[in-house]
This record gives sequence, C-alpha cells and structure tokens, in this order.
Amino acid sequence: MQTDTTYKINEIFETLQGEGSFTGQPSIFIRLQGCPVGCSWCDTKHTWNVSIEKEVEPQSIVTKKIENDSWGVFTIEQLKAVFLSEGYQAKHIVITGGEPCMYDLLPLCLEFERSGYSCQVETSGTFEIKVSDKCWVTVSPKVNMKGGYKVLKSALLRANEIKHPVATEQHIDDLKALIDEHKIVNKQIYIQPISQKKRATELAIQSCIDNNWRLSVQMHKYIGIE
Ligand code: SF4
Repeated sequence: MQTDTTYKINEIFETLQGEGSFTGQPSIFIRLQGCPVGCSWCDTKHTWNVSIEKEVEPQSIVTKKIENDSWGVFTIEQLKAVFLSEGYQAKHIVITGGEPCMYDLLPLCLEFERSGYSCQVETSGTFEIKVSDKCWVTVSPKVNMKGGYKVLKSALLRANEIKHPVATEQHIDDLKALIDEHKIVNKQIYIQPISQKKRATELAIQSCIDNNWRLSVQMHKYIGIE
C-alpha cells in the first residue's frame, strides 16, 4: 500500500455534510490547497494559490479556526494520527478543495477505506479523477470559468452525483448542454442555489420540478455550522 503520498491541506474538520446525497452525514472534511478553475462566485478563494510562503506546520492546520490561505503538508499516516488525536467519530471522509483532483487521491481513498471509512470527493470535473472504485464522486461541473478548463466527459461518467450550482437561467442551460453533449443519462442530478438568495433558490426549485432533478440547499449555511 502506497502511503507516502503527501497532500497540501488547508483545513481538516469534522462536521455534517451539508450538500447532495450525503446531507446530514457526519463527515471529516479534508480541504486541499490549490485550484486554477477561477469561479467568480467561489466561496473558498483562499484555497486557490499554493504560495510557498504560506506553508505552515501541519499542527497549525489542525488547530486552524479561521479561513485563510495557509496550508501544510500531510502524509496519509499523519492524517490518520490527526483523526485519532482530534477524537473524530465520523466514518465518512469528504475530500474537497480547492480542486482535490489535482492530486492523486487513490492512495488516500484505499488506505482510509481499509481502515473502515467511506470516502467522497467533491470536484469541478476539470481534472482526471484518481480515486478508488468505492469512492463517491460528486462532480460540480464548472462551465466557462475564468481559468479556461473544460469539464471532462470522463469525470461526468464517473460521477455518482452531479451537483450543479445555479444563480441564473444560463447556469441551467449550461448544465443541459453539458448533459446533451456528453450523453449523460441515469445520473443523480442536484441543483444548488449559488447563494441563499431568494431568486437563485426559486430558480433552483423550479428547475428541479421541471426536470425531475433534486434540490441541494447547503444545509450547513442554514443551520450555521461549518
Ligand atoms: S472549482 Fe471550486 S474551489 Fe475552484 S474556483 Fe470553482 S468553486 Fe472555487
């Protein structure tokens, strides 16, 4: 088992998953540093750059209480030690970012699955997805973003769920075009309002009803948890 792979990590915390199929599931979030996709409405812009001068000791990441662009390098063994020392009870791991698929996540998934955890990755679908077969893949396709990355067909096909952020009709059209272009069928599709604003939420609700999609409302933002 390859466990010497390292990951640049911005944040590790335990909470409830607030989005998609696993809403309400106690989860350990691992937020990886780095994302070149460039979504204008991104709510984790502090994860975009991997600035050398922002590297800190791993323990500073474990105790981090405020969002910032510092990151630390962790091996899988170090992550397991953190889970133990922090007393995390969740058995579901959410690997997010940033764009986690810039990393090879296969060793991480395999090692944690071997230890009794389930894994989920949240990705924009713009990088090849390197995870275990059992890993739950959430693709949140980012279309026509500033970074110029294309959503990969292979990512859409691998997705266990497609979770699409929407604020305007254009976002709905983008999703439909993507599904048509890549002939994506039989996928669980979630529509998620980009903000908690009334208009985005109403648009999301109506598009779910019209297309037999499901609504994801970022539960954590409504109940005030991380
Ligand atoms: S892909 Fe995710 S982390 Fe990257 S810019 Fe878009 S929303 Fe932010």
